Amino acid sequence: MRLKDKIALITGAAQGIGLATALKFAQEGAAVVVCDMRSDAIDAAVARCRDLGAKASGQRVDVTQRDQVDALVAEVLQRHGRIDVLVNNAGITKDARLQKMTLQQFDAVIDVNLRGVFHCAQAVADPMVAQGSGVILNASSVVGIYGNFGQTNYAASKFGVIGFTKTWSRELGPKGVRVNAVAPGFVETPILSTIPDKVLEQMRQQVPLRRLGRPEEIANVYAFLASDEASYVNGAVIEVSGGMTV
Ligand code: NAD
Repeated sequence: MRLKDKIALITGAAQGIGLATALKFAQEGAAVVVCDMRSDAIDAAVARCRDLGAKASGQRVDVTQRDQVDALVAEVLQRHGRIDVLVNNAGITKDARLQKMTLQQFDAVIDVNLRGVFHCAQAVADPMVAQGSGVILNASSVVGIYGNFGQTNYAASKFGVIGFTKTWSRELGPKGVRVNAVAPGFVETPILSTIPDKVLEQMRQQVPLRRLGRPEEIANVYAFLASDEASYVNGAVIEVSGGMTV
């Protein structure tokens, strides 16, 4: 068990990649804190982690609301005395071409994907520095590296996450805290539900492996990065895309 007794907070963990990561971390022995906006799905995610023998708890938190994030981190510290891993996974899309994108679409994505990541990282940074150890993992995307049609807001937010990762790895590395990002390609989760089948098929054909990724295949990389096996990995952006950008 690579994450035995680690206390791991995962945002957006009620479904998709976040849920797969919570289950993987549970299998690896971590105590998992599931945080999401979808209160209906949190209990089920917690129950699945517990079925794997892990300690798990859940809380409805909107990462754009700083007071909610601070309250969650305070509660985790009170209950467990430490936070070892933060997976900044919560993210949304609101797609439109540049000329069509509304300010609401722009702001909503920046709020969750950038401000939310900032809130959570800032809330755990002091406790991790005080412990002298910790891991912060951020969800970027291949879209953050290469851009994508119709995703001005999302691409900017995911490129921004890379900036966060590199900056925090410099600031926190000397204090024993590692910070890395994962940049998935296209992964089969509800976030792709608005994309037409024809476009999904075109996306599959762009990938040398000729298929989309599975949430578990991203979770595996988060588990590696969270573990001591990745003790010299810091400030990295790991692309997990089946080779789609080669
Ligand atoms: P998803 O839509 O399936 O799940 C995202 C989860 O985040 C949901 O449970 C949602 O309720 C939660 N969430 C949304 N806003 C929130 C908020 N304000 N506060 C708390 N929770 C919130 O998405 P996914 O496909 O599993 O993606 C997870 C992460 O990976 C995202 O950051 C996404 O941008 C990134 N990513 C996904 C893909 C992909 O193809 N699926 C590719 C690259 C990057």
